[in-house]
This record gives sequence, C-alpha cells and structure tokens, in this order.
Amino acid sequence: MKLYSTNNKDLRVSFKEAVFNSMPQDKGLYMPVEIPQLDTEFVQNIEQYSLPEIAYQVASTLLKEEIPAEDLRALINDAINFDAPAVQLDDKTFVLELFHGPSLAFKDFGARFMSRVMAYFLKDGEQLLDVLVATSGDTGGAVALGFLGVPNTRVTILYPEGKVSPIQELQLTTNGENIRAVEVKGTFDDCQALVKQAFADRELNAKFRLTSANSINISRLIPQTFYYFNTYAQLKKQGFEDVIFSVPSGNFGNIGAGLLAYKLGLPVKQFIAATNVNDTVPRFLESGVYETRPSTQTYSNAMDVGAPSNWVRIMDLFDQDVEAVKKMVTSYRFTDDETLEGIKEIDKNLNYVACPHTAIAYLAIEKYRNENPADNSAAVFLSTAHACKFPDIFPAEIAAKIEIPVQVKALESKPKHADQLGIDFEGFKEYLLKG
Ligand SMILES: *Cc1c(COP(=O)(O)O)cnc(C)c1O
Repeated sequence: MKLYSTNNKDLRVSFKEAVFNSMPQDKGLYMPVEIPQLDTEFVQNIEQYSLPEIAYQVASTLLKEEIPAEDLRALINDAINFDAPAVQLDDKTFVLELFHGPSLAFKDFGARFMSRVMAYFLKDGEQLLDVLVATSGDTGGAVALGFLGVPNTRVTILYPEGKVSPIQELQLTTNGENIRAVEVKGTFDDCQALVKQAFADRELNAKFRLTSANSINISRLIPQTFYYFNTYAQLKKQGFEDVIFSVPSGNFGNIGAGLLAYKLGLPVKQFIAATNVNDTVPRFLESGVYETRPSTQTYSNAMDVGAPSNWVRIMDLFDQDVEAVKKMVTSYRFTDDETLEGIKEIDKNLNYVACPHTAIAYLAIEKYRNENPADNSAAVFLSTAHACKFPDIFPAEIAAKIEIPVQVKALESKPKHADQLGIDFEGFKEYLLKG
C-alpha cells in the first residue's frame, strides 16, 4: 500500500514511513493512493467468519505487501484479543459494544494495532521511538495501555486539566514504565496544537524520533474498519441485509474508518455522524461552509473537538464531492440536556445503560428514523466507551446499575503521577528537550 498526502497527491510513501511519520511535512494526512476492493466472495459469505478472520482478510487486502501473512495474522491475534458484540436491543436496533478492551473504549482497537505495527517495524538497536499524543480522554488510556512495556518506545500523553473523568485520569497517570502523563492547563485543542507544533519543530525532530498516536495515524484507522465488517457479518447471519451505522464523532476517525470500510466494499446503506454541540461537521453539511471553532466542554468529552482532524480524510475518500458525502453521511448534533434525556430513554425503553457518547449515537438513530420513515434498515449505534468511565453524568438510579469492571478496580490502588504544563509551546519544548 502506497500513501499520498491529502495536500499532495503526487507524494508516495510506504506504509512503514506513514506509520512512523504519522503526518506528512505538508500537514495533510496520509491516505492510500488506491483503495483495493475486498474479495467479493468473501463479502458475500462474511457471516461465516469470526472477528479475527475478518480482521485478517481486511488487513491483508490493504497490507499484504508490507507485512507477510503469518506475521500479520499473529499481530492481529495479539492486538484484537477481545470481542465486539452487536447486542440486539429491539427488532431492528443494535448496540455495537466496542468497550471490551483494556481501556474500556473503542480506541483500544486502534491503539493496540498501532503499537504492535510500530513494534513490528522497529529493528533492534534503532533509536528510541517517542510517541506524542494529545487526548480528550479516551485516546490516552488506550495508547498508554497499548504501548505499556513495548520495548524501545516512550509515550508522552497530554491531557486537559480537569476535563477527563477520574477513571480516564487513572488510566493515563498510573502506568509508569515507558509512559509519562502531562496535565495541560488548557483544552484538548490546546493539547493537540502543542503536539502538532512539536511535530513541525526542527530541533525536536533532529533530537528525537517523534511519532504520533492520535487518530491521525493511518495505522489506527485500519483496525477500526474491522468491526464494521464484523458487525455486518453478525447482522447478516441473523437475516438483516440493510444496515445503517450511527457513530458518535469527535475527531471523525471512527466514522472515517467506517467510510473506508464502505469504500473497501462493505455494503452499508447509510452512516450517521452524531456529534455534541461541537458541530463543525453538521454545520458544514447543512451550509457547505467548513468553519472550525474552539471546542466547548460537554458530557461527551471525548467528542469535544472543534476542528475534527480526520474530516479531510473523509473529503478525500469522496474526491471532495460534498454531494456524494451527503448521500452517505447524515449528521446530527445534540445538546447535553438531550444527551441526558437520551440516557434515561435508553435505560427506560431498552433497559440498557449507555455512556453519554453512546447515547448521542442512539438519539441520532431516532432522529434519522423520524426523518426517514420509509427506511427499514437495521440500525447499529456504536458504543464507544463503558458507562463506568463517566460516573458523574448519570442519575443515581441509573448509575447504580453500572457494573465496575475489574480492570478499573485494579487501578484505584496505584499511585498517580502527572507533570504539569501550560499551553505555551516553548514550555512544552523545554520539557521534551530535558528528555
Ligand atoms: C474518541 C471517542 C469518540 C470520538 O471518536 P472519533 O474517532 O474521534 O470521532 C467517541 N466516543 C468515545 C468514548 C471516544 O473515546
């Protein structure tokens, strides 16, 4: 697989280069030059395959020239060692639970696959790989747990002070070893800006081998396509043919992967991009004007993104054709009040406890069904995190139903450590240079 930059279609880099560079020098994003089609017979019989088999088939369609079959199979089995069940809640409504990995969020798919791809490409004796990552909550935990103990790597995680939940903070700050956490006095966008500036800084690049683990890394996008195929397989097995996916979106990596899956040959009828009031994309699809804004804090804090990085990838997948994007992607926004109502409604009507991000995806399905009464598709809303990560948001009687997984209990006894920094780049640079 060769990749180009969304800012320069003449550029050609290998997958390995794209993984380690993370971002092209021209500040575009890497995209495959060609999107191969999955074997049609495989797609037609997909219900016969398991998640690891589907993952291997999809990954090898993209990466067969970069990673030999045996190695790729082993890598996938190691990275994707947990399930992604599509749980039926009523006739035609399913919740896709993506929180059965170690950090209890869907970002485990991307982070675990990426860390193993990087480790695979690192040769003995090569310079230490420095992973810089900004997180609005869940990325950090997934990356920390994904890289923990991976030899020859060091991870620096920036997170906004006071804007991540207690469990998220524990996942970021209790690891030690090759993982360090930095608490930034600012927003997620400030954290992301610091990381982006570091990647563009000549001095830092001369001294360190920097790489990113944000959703901009192409190796995070690929494993996120696996569960779209696997869900389709699960639904097809039960006799459903028409499927729509509702994706709670912040940086638009998750839905970007869904759209990549579609371009690879996954038969999907419609995608719904569900956001909170950080609604750059819904506004764009309504008005045709792409205008980013500073992010606003909401209950669904992992989606508090005013400038969604991966949107350029989606436009690239559709050759900048806004009308074509609109045909495949419907987008809705929801306020915190609506989110809370959604949580109560899911509990009452479907007897299910959904985290705030998940609730937004559910609300978007309801809205879509109201606006498209003739569409009888099965609808899948993606549950991107376990409800226990956001304990403060639930009314007491719903909170009481949340079961705390064992992974979380183990963290509570560990000491917390984070370094504190402001939002100025010079301070961050100095911190990094100290090593
Ligand atoms: C990161 C995250 C999202 C948003 O995913 P994007 O790929 O950034 O759109 C949604 N929900 C949760 C729980 C997350 O951690």
